[in-house]
Amino acid sequence: MKEKSHSLASFSTYLNKGFDLRQHARQMADARQGPEISPASVFLALLHAFVFRLPSFQQLDAELAHSYLQHWIGVERPFRDDTLRYSLCGFNLEPLEHMLVDLNRRLKRSKAFEAGRVQGHLVAALDGIEVLSSFSRRCESCLERRVISKDPTGRRVEQIQYYHRAVGCQMIHSPVKPFLAVEWLRPGEGEDTAALRLLSRLPRLYGSRFFDILLLDALYAQSPILQLLQQIGWEAVICLKQDCRDLYQSAVGLFAHRLPDLRLTERRDHKTYRVQLWDTGDSEALPLTLHNPQPVRVVRSQEVLERNHYRQGELTTHQTDHEWLWITTLPAQAFPAGVIRRLGHDRWKNENNGWMDLTKHWAFKHGFLHACRHRPKRTNPSGERELVPNQGLAAVTLILLIAFGLCSAFVLRHSKLARRDRLTTIAVAAQLHRCISKAPPSVRAPT
Ligand SMILES: [Zn+2]
Repeated sequence: MKEKSHSLASFSTYLNKGFDLRQHARQMADARQGPEISPASVFLALLHAFVFRLPSFQQLDAELAHSYLQHWIGVERPFRDDTLRYSLCGFNLEPLEHMLVDLNRRLKRSKAFEAGRVQGHLVAALDGIEVLSSFSRRCESCLERRVISKDPTGRRVEQIQYYHRAVGCQMIHSPVKPFLAVEWLRPGEGEDTAALRLLSRLPRLYGSRFFDILLLDALYAQSPILQLLQQIGWEAVICLKQDCRDLYQSAVGLFAHRLPDLRLTERRDHKTYRVQLWDTGDSEALPLTLHNPQPVRVVRSQEVLERNHYRQGELTTHQTDHEWLWITTLPAQAFPAGVIRRLGHDRWKNENNGWMDLTKHWAFKHGFLHACRHRPKRTNPSGERELVPNQGLAAVTLILLIAFGLCSAFVLRHSKLARRDRLTTIAVAAQLHRCISKAPPSVRAPT
């Protein structure tokens, strides 16, 4: 009989065979002493919560009452959110990061990144990720910002908002777009500082040849970052904003009096883009800033976007103008302006299974871990007992990224059903989730 739906058993077999899931789970560790519920079970419980896309911990709590899920994650009884929280707050991040790196290496070995190469090159992107914000709850590693809002009487009030933010590096050219690593911003520092830390760490985790080109936002158009990329041997495409002062002005000045180097028309999803491109090429490269004369190639795109709408039975066309500017270290001959435009557009952020998918459909409410003071203690060098540092958010985020990578691989690389029935990753998640409620409670899951 033809299989009609995905089962948890086939998903699990794929993860164990392809990615050593059980072996990795056994390596998990936390700061508790002799716990009854092992760190491996806590990890597997949260991993399944992400795989099934459960919206909250309350939901996971309810699911854990079902013995099928208990067997699956290797516990004899249900456990509540206080166990999960107590474990995660003192979770060891190393085995999680090790698993993320191993997962990505396996994806690369199995040629998951071959599709979508750009001129034969592998492309990753760096982006900021905001994980949670609060006006009331804060912890020792919160970032702070002033937020102006209006109270019910319309008066302006200024409040301090506490939040957490990280920089993530993600593969983006291929259908499977896993995250390679994240780096958290520390209180008082900028995103660029965290990005520098992340970029220096990546070659140690993956080697410098894991990808070739890095896409970056305007924020990263800085000499220290460009120098580091050059040292490591990564090429860059950076999207500039108009406030990028000197360089923007000189590029606009240079291109103002000449015809575009390339014109093209692109049609996609009822939209037509009429594009004019200017390119300094390698020979006319412009200085990055007044203080740093390092020459960079600049590509500018002027685009007219036409959208067709039906209004009261009549087809109308709506036009908007857009302008883009990119700097790049890529050579003009191998990467003409049209390719730089394609690389530089942040279209990848909006795709299914890309960044939007992760923020919109995977947003497990993990605020329950924030500022948690219920966590294990340790003895410090001067012999005093103190709380272990709170690793909760970092641990949950790594487990989320592992789940995201594994599910993408299962749906896009492995499942014939998903291809045959054109299932989205959300539909597959729902099928896997249904396995739990349909299964007879006495079934023991294979290990
Ligand atoms: Zn905090």
